Amino acid sequence: MRKKIVAGNWKLNNTMDEGLKLASEIANMMNDEVKDGVSVVLGTPFIHLNAVSNLTKTNKNLNVAAQDCSTHESGAYTGDISVAMIKSTGASHVIIGHSERREYHNETNTELATKVDLALKEGLTPIFCCGESLDIRESGNHEAFVSQQLTESLFHLSEEQMSKVVIAYEPIWAIGTGVTASSAQAQEMHKALRAHLATKFGDSLAENTSILYGGSCKPGNAKELFGQADIDGGLIGGASLKSRDFVDIANSF
Ligand code: PEP
Repeated sequence: MRKKIVAGNWKLNNTMDEGLKLASEIANMMNDEVKDGVSVVLGTPFIHLNAVSNLTKTNKNLNVAAQDCSTHESGAYTGDISVAMIKSTGASHVIIGHSERREYHNETNTELATKVDLALKEGLTPIFCCGESLDIRESGNHEAFVSQQLTESLFHLSEEQMSKVVIAYEPIWAIGTGVTASSAQAQEMHKALRAHLATKFGDSLAENTSILYGGSCKPGNAKELFGQADIDGGLIGGASLKSRDFVDIANSF
């Protein structure tokens, strides 16, 4: 059975103190409220990874993710953070290929394939992001475009490796815009992506892959989105910065 996952992406937000306050609030609420069987992930800036990992390590359903990793393992790459460094903080996940990194840092599907390989080699769970722009959606090519992102970044993996990857479908036109994909639009894409995974890795692996939805997911729409057959949770941006909203979303299954 695939895992239910709600992952927050703090992006470029929160000083050290602010981040620790937010993480403590979420950890405290989770102890009382979030159902067992829902895995919650906090995607923090690099500076928070170690402190937040220490703070959350007693809660087995609460995990920590970096928002990116280097394509290199070590060496003269000023400013980069390697998968081994991330692992050493206590974090267990890494978000790879978020649309903001694809857009502002020109990350390509080929580079993302390398990041996925390195994360898996280090024992980190990649949360691999994919999604189409509004232009592509309006041209009707969204399914082919997103399938191609999976093909180019994930289809070189073995079945065993792929079984450790989480996918986040995030239509770019819905990220941070307040415009959410309708549950029918999201379900249609999740189903198509699962079918695409099955062509390479087989039905059983596709059935067991968690595919998260991202794009203006909030307490008010999470239940309907998470109620769709192929939506296994969410990658949450803005609403992950408010503990109450984030925990309410985690409680929306
Ligand atoms: C995101 O950045 O991954 C995201 C889904 O953002 P938001 O929830 O703010 O749309």
